[in-house]
Amino acid sequence: MADRRPQAELSAPVTDLKGIGEKTGKLFASCGVRTVEELLHYYPRAYDSYAAPCFVRDFREGGRFAVSCRLLRVPSLTHARRYAILSGEATDGTDVFRVQWFNQPYLKNTLYAGREYVLRGYVKKKGRSWLMEQPGIHTPEDYALLRGSLLPRYPLVKGLKNATVIKAMHAALERVSLLDDPVPERIVGAHDLMPLSEALRILHFPSDDEAQARARRRLAFDEFFFFLLGIRSLKAAAAAEEDGIRMERTDPVDSFLGRLPFPLTGAQKRVLAEITADMTGGGVMHRLVQGDVGSGKTILALIAMLIAVENGHQAALMAPTQVLAAQHYETFARMTEQYDLPFRPVLLSGTCSAGERRQALSRIASGNVNCVIGTNALMQDAVQYRSLGLVITDEQHRFGVRQREYLARKGEKPHVLVMSATPIPRTLAMILYGDLQVSLVDELPAGRKKIKNALVGPEYRPKAWAFIAKQAAAGRQAYVICPMIEEGELAGAENVLDYAVKLSEAMPESVRVDILHGQMRAEDKDRAMERFARHETDVLVSTTVVEVGVNVPNATVMMIENAERFGIAQLHQLRGRVGRGEEQSYCIFVNTSEAEEAGKRMEILTKTNDGFRIADEDLKQRGPGDLFGVRQSGELAFRAADIYADADLLRLASADVDAIFAEDPSLSADRHAPLREAVEKCAFPDPATL
Ligand code: ADP
Ligand code: MG
Repeated sequence: MADRRPQAELSAPVTDLKGIGEKTGKLFASCGVRTVEELLHYYPRAYDSYAAPCFVRDFREGGRFAVSCRLLRVPSLTHARRYAILSGEATDGTDVFRVQWFNQPYLKNTLYAGREYVLRGYVKKKGRSWLMEQPGIHTPEDYALLRGSLLPRYPLVKGLKNATVIKAMHAALERVSLLDDPVPERIVGAHDLMPLSEALRILHFPSDDEAQARARRRLAFDEFFFFLLGIRSLKAAAAAEEDGIRMERTDPVDSFLGRLPFPLTGAQKRVLAEITADMTGGGVMHRLVQGDVGSGKTILALIAMLIAVENGHQAALMAPTQVLAAQHYETFARMTEQYDLPFRPVLLSGTCSAGERRQALSRIASGNVNCVIGTNALMQDAVQYRSLGLVITDEQHRFGVRQREYLARKGEKPHVLVMSATPIPRTLAMILYGDLQVSLVDELPAGRKKIKNALVGPEYRPKAWAFIAKQAAAGRQAYVICPMIEEGELAGAENVLDYAVKLSEAMPESVRVDILHGQMRAEDKDRAMERFARHETDVLVSTTVVEVGVNVPNATVMMIENAERFGIAQLHQLRGRVGRGEEQSYCIFVNTSEAEEAGKRMEILTKTNDGFRIADEDLKQRGPGDLFGVRQSGELAFRAADIYADADLLRLASADVDAIFAEDPSLSADRHAPLREAVEKCAFPDPATL
């Protein structure tokens, strides 16, 4: 058929593009990009802009500048601990400034005194002179070519270069006009959205910030729109299916509750009653349990699973990372032994050997195992359950939605419980969680030590580091969070790699510093996290990847650099990583902004620990345009959209979706065919790629 061609060009593998070979194709696949269309939806996370070179007298603290200059002499190389530092002096003809490169000793042989360069980097005042750190080095001719453009920076994995993605993207964009826009024209028109293909073209290679913002808005709208269409379809399907597995609450469940070392909080009791009513009521449970970090959701999951197992069914618990899955598994194994529970648990995750996995699969299929804990590995086609009665997802609502679609496709109807610590404002929760009944665990167990908070400026850093060293000496551990991974992603912000170098230089030799960030391979991330959990390292310098659910009770310090760059709800989540043990915990927010509002904005964090109040405040404060600074991360992370900054778009998309379903509940009208297809396409992805 003639009209098949455009679709084929888009659904072709990326290796179909000029210059993209098998090797690059594999790297793209590990980023979840297989087809040309998926590549078009691989969005930049930041942009580099190349402004006209300025003079030293134009430098401002913390800013990034390019300057035409000459080196006074060949830079000199010194070594501090394991690190090589190359330092020199340059002049723009009038003023002199210092330059420094870390761990790039080989640059020494490529730089010449007296030759003209354009150096571009972040500057800060050091004593009376300016210091430019890790500047990029350009010839004046090269720099002239870069001037005035905004170059995308893509999320990368080891081996995949930004330049490779840019080249592939140019090739992919040649096919962008073949894309059909699945969003109805009247909706695009009503919200003054950019056409889809134009939005993609501009998002990847914008001419300026304003165009980029409009392009992003269009793509953010689409993300919300299709997510909500998916949710509403599920809700319609759930309403249609009345009969679920009817279970009973048995005596052993109550006897177990009686033997716990602590009484459940009032909130836990209430939520447990709601869960029990769902599971025993004859319908299918679709429930979200929302509760702040530390409110005690795991025990509720365990009890729900106990009910399922007591009734002769299997129960599965799915966590977003291998580390969390392993943590849950250990908790379950320990409790099973301690309380003589009927669980026969198994851990199913990417770290299992092929043999272990095969054995686990056969035990799951035979029903020999009744409690399966793991990552999304436990929702793959190879996993056949004997009698799946309950599925719980921890900290991953979005994944939960897809997983339910997946189960529905396999014809299974287990009860579903979603657990979330993301405190989002009620108005947004009603939209985002519209497919679920919501239970709130709005009370913390009594007797928790309150985290002590400090909101400080960068001049406090040496004191904070000394404090961390002291805590480490006392056997405690600390997290330090930086907004970016490496130099140059965000103007003037700290980055994990350089920060870890600086920090380990400042710490006593005995303090073991490690790093963790999103570009590390999954196994390396897990290993870094496990080393920290086993106290083989003392300080973990990390991006926000550490945010979700990790439990290291011995960590007592959370230090957040450039705190002004995070949403306050996110700061609250980060803070939740400490205060989980017996010891007093501390959270240090380092505000490096001179703007008065930045400090004011964060004050609420020092006043309350109530995640919902903080989330409401966050919603009030954030405006569109914050995006592509620090990304919202965690379970509600969208690719282009941000639930806080784009709350207005979320509401628009929600109203549109409501209107469509009011008119055509099964999306069966001809004019809705593209929508139906789009929903199906995102609804039934290969679970292995999730
Ligand atoms: P989260 O809701 O963040 O997942 P967890 O379930 O990990 O929280 O619980 C945090 C800690 O609180 C765990 O060590 C757990 O044993 C403990 N806990 C849970 N419920 C209670 C309670 N009612 N009283 C005292 N401690 C509790
Ligand atoms: Mg938890």
